[in-house]
Amino acid sequence: MNLSELAKYIGDEEKAEEALLELGVLKRYTKCPICGENRIGRVRRTKYKCYCCNKEWGVRRGSVLAGLKIPFTKFLMAIKLFELDTSVRESAKQLGLAYNTVYRLYHILRHAIVITDTNYQSFSGEIEMDESYFGGRRKGSRGRGAAGKVPVFGILERGGKVTVEVVPDVKGDTLLELAIKKVKRGSLIYTDRFRSYNGLVSYGFKHRRIDHGKRFANGKVYINGIEGFWSFAKERLMKYHGVKPTKFPLYLKELEFRYNHRDRDLFADLLQLLVGYSLVACTE
Ligand SMILES: [Zn+2]
Repeated sequence: MNLSELAKYIGDEEKAEEALLELGVLKRYTKCPICGENRIGRVRRTKYKCYCCNKEWGVRRGSVLAGLKIPFTKFLMAIKLFELDTSVRESAKQLGLAYNTVYRLYHILRHAIVITDTNYQSFSGEIEMDESYFGGRRKGSRGRGAAGKVPVFGILERGGKVTVEVVPDVKGDTLLELAIKKVKRGSLIYTDRFRSYNGLVSYGFKHRRIDHGKRFANGKVYINGIEGFWSFAKERLMKYHGVKPTKFPLYLKELEFRYNHRDRDLFADLLQLLVGYSLVACTE
């Protein structure tokens, strides 16, 4: 959905509310959540009322919007701005919202991405695996040179999707455990010559190694798919100077999501993540 389609889609508060109900982001109440009777109706602009127990509740009850003080129209626009990679500061300015309100919504979106991660054994076929280091000032290689950097392990299915995880270290056991968790046995895995990938074969994977120096010389033996993701991720993360280490996994998963949804309508996919999302799920 582009901006001009979005403007029509959103319309006014009423239309935006209907759109959110239609998507399931707002709950459509057909009976009273307190007594269970179905004699309910709308009262005033933002409430439902039960004519049996006389209780009232807000239209935002039970949805991600319950704790967000933000009109429906601006909520939808803020998600569009997130899709467009607009900073919190700029979005707040464009929407006339408080910085903290937009910050909170952005955090919710990243959190929703993390908790809906469904990568369990879903990778198969031709797979590339590689590790990379993020953050820190110095260029460094594996081991001592990488001090202060965060190691990230990546798995990419050729012609498909990628999954990345912050890992405590790049030892064989650590990487193999993730490989087993995410990749179907029997898949063909390409890696470089790093020793931590020894052992893939004994867990039922096919394994081929490449030499970085001559990776284009051997036909299909390359790992430039995952390396493409690393440059995509690093370029984007440059924008977020000083992402706190505790928040880094959230940003990383956001990039994974963006990469995996690159040919889709990201706006629609982000909204879909918020169906059934309740603020209780988000601890921060
Ligand atoms: Zn009732």
